[in-house]
Formats: sequence, C-alpha cells, structure tokens
Amino acid sequence: MQLTRSLFDDVMVPNYAPSPIIPVKGLGSRLWDQQGKEYIDFAGGIAVNCLGHCHPVLVNALTEQANKLWHLSNTMTNEPALALAKRLVDHTFAEKVYFANSGAEANEAALKLVRRVALNKFGAEKSQIIAFKMGFHGRTLFTVTVGGQPAYSDGFGPKPADIDHAEYNNLDSLKALMSDKTCAVVLEPLQGEGGIISPTVEFIKGVRELCDQHNALLVFDEVQSGVGRTGELYAYMGLGVTPDVLTTAKALGGGFPIGAMLTTTEIAKHLVVGTHGSTYGGNPLACAVALAAFDTVNTAEVLEGVKAREALFKEALVKINAKYDVFSEIRGKGLLVGAALNAKWAGKSRDFMLAAAAEGLLVLMAGYNVIRFAPSLVIPEQDIAEGMVRFEAAIAKLVEQQA
Ligand SMILES: *Cc1c(COP(=O)(O)O)cnc(C)c1O
Repeated sequence: MQLTRSLFDDVMVPNYAPSPIIPVKGLGSRLWDQQGKEYIDFAGGIAVNCLGHCHPVLVNALTEQANKLWHLSNTMTNEPALALAKRLVDHTFAEKVYFANSGAEANEAALKLVRRVALNKFGAEKSQIIAFKMGFHGRTLFTVTVGGQPAYSDGFGPKPADIDHAEYNNLDSLKALMSDKTCAVVLEPLQGEGGIISPTVEFIKGVRELCDQHNALLVFDEVQSGVGRTGELYAYMGLGVTPDVLTTAKALGGGFPIGAMLTTTEIAKHLVVGTHGSTYGGNPLACAVALAAFDTVNTAEVLEGVKAREALFKEALVKINAKYDVFSEIRGKGLLVGAALNAKWAGKSRDFMLAAAAEGLLVLMAGYNVIRFAPSLVIPEQDIAEGMVRFEAAIAKLVEQQA
C-alpha cells in the first residue's frame, strides 16, 4: 500500500489541510521526508518538540518506562505521575496538580474548577468567565468558546454560557465587563495562535488587581508559553504576576501527549472525588517522558540558551527584513517568535510557509499575517544559521515573483 498525501483525502476527515510533505524521520532539529529530502525544523510541532526530535534522554525515558508499565487507570496512582507532580509543585507556585492529555483538556479542567470554586464559595450567580479576543484555548466546545475567535466556536449548537471577551492589552475593556459576578479571567501570558502578542506589564498587573478586587480567579493558559519557551520555566515568572490556576501541555511532553493543570491547595480542594477525571490522565508513559523533558529543560543552561537563541532568531530576521522589506515587526519572547508581514504582504503568511518548505525549512503561521517560529529550545546555532539562509532564499523567490 502506498502511504501518500492523496490517501489523506481518501481516508481522513477533511478538518486539516496538511502539507504534501510526509516526514518519516527526525533527529534534533532536522527532518527527512519520504523522498529523503531534508528539512530544518523551525516549527517544533507547534511549540511541542522542545528538545527536538528523538532526543536521547526522552527516547530513553520512553523505552525504559515502556518495558516497565504502560497504564493503570486512576483507580491507582503510579510512580512517574507522582514524580512529575512533585517536580511541578517544587518548581512553580502550584501546590496541586491534575493531569490530562492535551492543552484543551487541561483548560477544560481549569474552567470546570473555577466554576466549581465560585459556586461553592459565592453561589450560582458568580459564573462569568472573561477571556480575550484572539485568545486560543483548545477545541473542545467549552475551551473553543472561551477562545477569542467566534469563527472557531460557531456552528456547533448552543455554546456554554456566560463567557465574555475583552481586548488583550486593554484594561479598560476588561474593567467594563468585570463585576462581582466574574468567576475567572483566562488569558495566555503571550498570545500564540492569535499572532504572537506579548502582554504589557501594566496590563498583566492590572488584570491581577481586578481579579483580586472582584474575587475572581486568574487562569494563565501556558499551554504554548510554558516549559522554557519564553526563556523562563513558565512565562508568568518573567512577568512578576502569579496566577491562581495555570495550564501546561505542548512542550511538557516533548512530543508525547500530556497536559496538566496546576493550582493551590485552597482552590484544588473544590475538585473533590468524582467531580472530574480522565482515563489516560497521569498515564505512566506520558509522565515518565514529561519528567525527563521537564528536568532537561529546567536548567540554567537550557533556559539561558533560549534567550541566546532568541537573539539569533531576531537578529537574522531583522537582517533579512533590511534586505527585502517584508515584515512590519519582529516580536515575541524566547523561542516563540513572530514576524508580522507588512501591508504589502498582508494575508500571505501561508505563501511564506510554503516557500520556506520548498527550500527545506519548516516554519508556522499565526494567522494569515504572521510567520511563527517555535523551534526546539536546544536547536544548534548551526541549524539556526542554515535555516535562516533557506528562509532568505524563500523570501528572495517570493519577492522576485511579485516584482
Ligand atoms: C495549542 C494550545 C491549546 C490547545 O492544546 P491542545 O493540546 O491542542 O488541546 C490551548 N491553549 C493554547 C495557548 C495553545 O497554544
């Protein structure tokens, strides 16, 4: 049987439009497709492969655990889950951890938790959840409704109620929506899917204050920004604002599916036995890999390395732009970098992604106006340099075609 891209259209639900490239092998920040063509990976599986492909520490953790124990169910706990939870508690504000399998599920747990806390402490009236326009929190009906792009949540019947959206980096718009009926404010401390938008310190501190004033919980969705991505273990650590609930996934498993919700004992106590759960949440394989990924990322060397690589990415992009004038702004933090296209190239991020792939470079979009880079946190300098040569070649071709 031929496993080709056209088979996708024959047998898969058409909710994705995957590239014609089918990678079959990865190592570090390089990938090879079915034809043996090599790609440099600036996409990192959308901020997931924090240690690149097939990192020996992760391969070891996975194979070792695979020979011991795969799955139990939550009628029993297991050693990898306990070890990972302890690690997360030791290195963050959190005192309690709930494991899920994805970012959306971690957020689903967070949303159910904040609703339950408000109900128990203040009554049914306090159910409003405020999130932000262009925010992204996953694709379950609850999380996608909390997300700030109605196009993603429309058309699936009645939505979970009492969810409002303010403007990111606009405290007045939040103030206008907020009251003592607000149960929680949910935000990404660096908007990813929405276009790589950093919060201002004033905004993020103001959100915390408003939450405190109205007895609302502050939820940080760090599914994309967490686990070293910004050069801090979690983005909140670089902002000087601590949330009440934090969700983490993507890079947490380094490519193995896992998500987690972190919170305090005082808040966690409301999720009593029977209130929430997941068959696979806390799965030994996932937790063993995540523990290895977490320990590898959570070192001064790797986190400082992210900041050094951020500078390399931004310098290279500024240099390319000086030559071709295609970007209006280079932004983001750590290795979550966005290159916003200028008016002349508005709406064309997909063209840049395809042109880069033709040159042997994988990049991402963040909407139709921003090219996104979310590479391995340990991508070798040589791969950054070579990838940027390929990116420049792609842009040169686009510019030439347009002239
Ligand atoms: C990717 C993402 C999610 C959803 O994670 P899944 O694992 O796809 O469910 C949620 N929030 C943010 C900020 C994300 O970037």
